[in-house]
Amino acid sequence: MTSKDGYSWTKAQGLRAGVPSIGVIEPPSNVKSADTVYDVIVVGAGYCGLTAARDASLAGLKVLLLEARDRIGGRSWSSNIEGYPYEMGGTWVFWGQANVWREIARYGMQDELEISYDFSRGINKYLLSSPQGTQTFTHEEEDALMQSSLAKLANVDGCLGKTVVPFPHSGVLTPEARKYDHMSVADRLAEIKNDLTPNERLCAESFVLLCSGGTLETTSFYEFLHWWALSGYSYEGCIDYLVKYKFRGGQSSFAINFFKEALASGNLTYAFNSPVATIQHGGNGVQITTRAGQTYKSAKMICAIPLNVLNDVAFDPPLAPGRKAAATTGHVNQCVKVHAEISDRDLRSFTGISYPHNGLIYGFGDGETPAGNTHVVAFGGQHNHFHPEENLEHTKAAFQGFAPMNIERLVFHNWSKDEFAKGAWFFPAPGLLSTHLKDMRARESNIVFACSDWALGWRSFIDGAIEEGTRAAITVRADFAGRAKL
Ligand code: FAD
Repeated sequence: MTSKDGYSWTKAQGLRAGVPSIGVIEPPSNVKSADTVYDVIVVGAGYCGLTAARDASLAGLKVLLLEARDRIGGRSWSSNIEGYPYEMGGTWVFWGQANVWREIARYGMQDELEISYDFSRGINKYLLSSPQGTQTFTHEEEDALMQSSLAKLANVDGCLGKTVVPFPHSGVLTPEARKYDHMSVADRLAEIKNDLTPNERLCAESFVLLCSGGTLETTSFYEFLHWWALSGYSYEGCIDYLVKYKFRGGQSSFAINFFKEALASGNLTYAFNSPVATIQHGGNGVQITTRAGQTYKSAKMICAIPLNVLNDVAFDPPLAPGRKAAATTGHVNQCVKVHAEISDRDLRSFTGISYPHNGLIYGFGDGETPAGNTHVVAFGGQHNHFHPEENLEHTKAAFQGFAPMNIERLVFHNWSKDEFAKGAWFFPAPGLLSTHLKDMRARESNIVFACSDWALGWRSFIDGAIEEGTRAAITVRADFAGRAKL
């Protein structure tokens, strides 16, 4: 099946909107009666909504899952082009992420991971490009440079940030954490400007921008420290947790298991291609109307809609002021993630930074396609932002910013223009978490708001989405059982 989402380009076919994915659900709806009153309606079929819908339906609740798109997975989905999965959004997972690993084990997928990097052949080098030219390093030198630059950035306390974020799965921001949340990474870099070598500065800045998809000024320094803490306070940990292990069959091969299990319960009704327009709620339950004018009713609702598009839905009564303000501020991540299939086999083992002049900041060999070509993945963001489909020559030139390469195919999803995401993974500007983390997590009457964007642990990761979906289903089940709410 082909999703309306995503783009691909080849010389022969030109630019095409829509790419094939096993995450597209057919038939798009199994709604039998418009009059059913559900126990719970889940809006959003990303990992959070999928987890919530599965857990609630397995618990015996009558669940309706409504999704705006034609597919599951939300910001994590894979296209399948000529038998090869290109990850359009969320990709890498790690066994240190407890919620993700619980689910991988549940579906028996422990042996379906592979490592993105392959340093066994080809040029096997780290290419550091700046306006001054390209420097070449071994991967061991790359690791040492990245570790020293990130350690200097994070070392606010002489303990690599361990006293500032001692419990990275806690939702409590201590006064010190708040202080750093009100600081941007640009502020922190100004503090240590005399401690960094020019290369360390290039590495630190580009790595932070890879994490946030924003600018140095719009990146909360606390949230960077939070990622660092989750990753074991080391660069090696960052690689293991953030960019190393992915599913051989693509993310959609994981997500589809959640959906199938929920469906097999016999308690799941679903409707894709159903963007929700209005949500009325109160003591008597919830009434949801789609843009097409279809109305659905339920006792409870789990709203798994991302922060940056929450204000596009009309809530009656309106969203609580704190949540509304958080959604108005939004998160800052406008990551540009693009895949290229290139005929240069030697580049399978390159990693590279091209900064600050280039549109794509960070890139590396991510796989080998069935044709034996190299698959390169690259990331840009708000810094030198661009829309890949608007100027393909610019997009291709951004890949050449790492090294000369012969591009045969491009594949991407424009998350900035996506009306159901308006950005990539959550990354906050200074102050957002200190001011609104609690607001984003609070429930309102019969609605539980759940999303990776306000998870406590791996916030903005697949793990955080599953953490939130689990919490939402437990909360709703407790409601029905008359137990105390979480
Ligand atoms: P979403 O996946 O956004 O799900 C929300 C759903 O709500 C969507 O399906 C959306 O269509 C739907 N929706 C929105 N509005 C409406 C409406 N009005 N009516 C009905 N439905 C609506 N995480 C990792 O762990 N590892 C990674 O390597 C990684 N890389 C990433 C790279 C990119 C480019 C992106 C974009 C994200 C990445 N992430 C990664 C983050 C991860 O993908 C997300 O944190 C996670 O998938 C979010 O899940 P969610 O269910 O909370 O939200």
